[in-house]
Amino acid sequence: MNSGTTNLSVLRGGCLCGAVRYEAGGAPHDVSHCHCLDCRRSSGAAFVTWASFRPSHFHFTHGQPRQFEWAGRFRSFCPSCGTPLTFMAAADADEIDVTVCSLDDPQSVSPVDHTWVEDRLPWVHLNDGLPTYHKEIPTWRVQVRSKPHGSES
Ligand SMILES: [Zn+2]
Ligand SMILES: [Zn+2]
Repeated sequence: MNSGTTNLSVLRGGCLCGAVRYEAGGAPHDVSHCHCLDCRRSSGAAFVTWASFRPSHFHFTHGQPRQFEWAGRFRSFCPSCGTPLTFMAAADADEIDVTVCSLDDPQSVSPVDHTWVEDRLPWVHLNDGLPTYHKEIPTWRVQVRSKPHGSES
């Protein structure tokens, strides 16, 4: 849904204090709200919106984030101001997730679903009509972007 028209664009972003800046090439292949406990706690927010890129399409252009491993997953944040920046499910994962709200233009991407809603806080009410998943996104949904989103259990 997000591919096709903006493949040649470059999305730029960075942390609150400006010490760390990054560029991501092309349109993200996925944009998702995550309600999981670890995203919540590591961000201090009720949920985190992630845009997913191929690691080869993402690089830091200024400064270096601090990387932190937790539960076998890798999160990075600015060592000066603490802004959460990236997530990788493994050191050699074929996908890097970038916090949409660290983009200079967060409105340039559109979330397509909610994941880990089994961890959703009771005072977060979802009525945006997007599909919800109890846990992670089913792999078929990521791989076959053109199929309509079904309801997953
Ligand atoms: Zn910073
Ligand atoms: Zn999460």
